[in-house]
Amino acid sequence: MTQVFKFGGASIQDAAAIRRVGELLARFRARPLIVVVSAMGKTTNALETLLAAARAGETEEYRDRLETLRQEHLTTVEALFGDRAGPVTERVEALITELDQLHRRHASRERPFHYDQTVCYGELLSTTIISAWLDEAGMATEWLDARDLVVTDDCHQAANVDWQATVERVRGLATDDDKIRVTQGFIGGTTEGVSTTLGREGSDFSAAILAHCLDAEEVTIWKDVPGLFNADPRRFDNAVQLERISYDEAIELAWHGAKVIHPKTLGPLQQKSIPLTVRSFEDLEAPPSTIGRDTRFDTQTPSLVLLEEQTLLEIRSRDFAFMDEPRQHDILGRLVEAGLHASLIDAGAMRLSLCLDDGHPDRLEPLVSSLCADYAVVRHEDLTLLTVRHADDALLAALSAGRDSLAERRNADTAQRLFPSTQCQGTWHIPL
Ligand code: ADP
Ligand code: ASP
Ligand code: MG
Repeated sequence: MTQVFKFGGASIQDAAAIRRVGELLARFRARPLIVVVSAMGKTTNALETLLAAARAGETEEYRDRLETLRQEHLTTVEALFGDRAGPVTERVEALITELDQLHRRHASRERPFHYDQTVCYGELLSTTIISAWLDEAGMATEWLDARDLVVTDDCHQAANVDWQATVERVRGLATDDDKIRVTQGFIGGTTEGVSTTLGREGSDFSAAILAHCLDAEEVTIWKDVPGLFNADPRRFDNAVQLERISYDEAIELAWHGAKVIHPKTLGPLQQKSIPLTVRSFEDLEAPPSTIGRDTRFDTQTPSLVLLEEQTLLEIRSRDFAFMDEPRQHDILGRLVEAGLHASLIDAGAMRLSLCLDDGHPDRLEPLVSSLCADYAVVRHEDLTLLTVRHADDALLAALSAGRDSLAERRNADTAQRLFPSTQCQGTWHIPL
């Protein structure tokens, strides 16, 4: 049965990292194997900046940025292939030329469309280099264009998968030959062949889409951490690894912002009972985490998520009316229309509070203006949202000590508190 491996940006950030991926594949390769790859390092961020420069018509800045992107990829090719770099260099140069030309064609189109046509080049470039490197290292590969495999609608930057059409396109990939099939994460295409993207950090989801459509045996995502922890090990000095966790629990953590897995990843796997393994590409001996049907271990350890760069909107009616269902309906309708997600909704008799991500000012500011026109709105910025699963009162009290909570929400298994970010800096310790 097919295995799907996914490699993120950090695991392929330069020539040395790509070599390590080659070694890893030589050791762990399964048959049939599909390898889903993100853009190298921070290339997607670089492409977003390139797009902004292209749309602002800042030609010199645009040229510099394109040249930097080109040089970074060519340097990797040079370091990997040395004297034999010629054919791969040509393919990279051809992709950069295509990228440059498309800006002229699409500069007057809406930004989400132009975005998708631009940023997909990060993954097209990385997979071109990696596929060639695996061939060089003696593993036969087939490079596949994910825009022909993952069929989506044209909701640019957050495209929705057409599952039936995708199943038909990927069915043939489960061939038990000796080839490693290498394709891009994050990107898809419409039935008309227009490039789309699935949302930032969407490569995990791509791996799950392919696995679901192929009834794969397992998905492995190779990370710079040994597995899924009960809190981000880079923020919490005593985070512990969760070696086994259920789909439902992992979905909750991802939904509340645990950056390690894209939240859409788990649903398609759960539906087919395909286990997801999270393991380290740095320490190949480290025991991984497995996400599957088993729920036995879910409540043993409280899990924590910190979500930064949050803004709180406290919304009241101007005429002292209750914040009843019609008003909630109106406010949440505007939120949906703005394309925003509230990470916390806290309703009282006279007030509705929404906690929103600061990261989309183009959507947030029009929403705030629209609400201010009809309601009394108080805005608090620079906040951090703490979500704790399976917490008791003592743990919550200890985590909140010395911090002022601006909004809260709690149900049977999840508690959330919103604090000023100035009170949340540095490394955290989970009080036990
Ligand atoms: P990728 O290379 O696949 O894009 P990411 O950088 O998105 O990988 O995800 C890995 C990072 O997720 C880790 O470096 C870690 O800091 C962070 N992280 C956040 N929450 C968790 C968690 N609960 N368990 C493990 N890692 C976490
Ligand atoms: N390259 C894309 C991003 O940086 C997708 C991914 O890495 O998962 O968002
Ligand atoms: Mg990521």
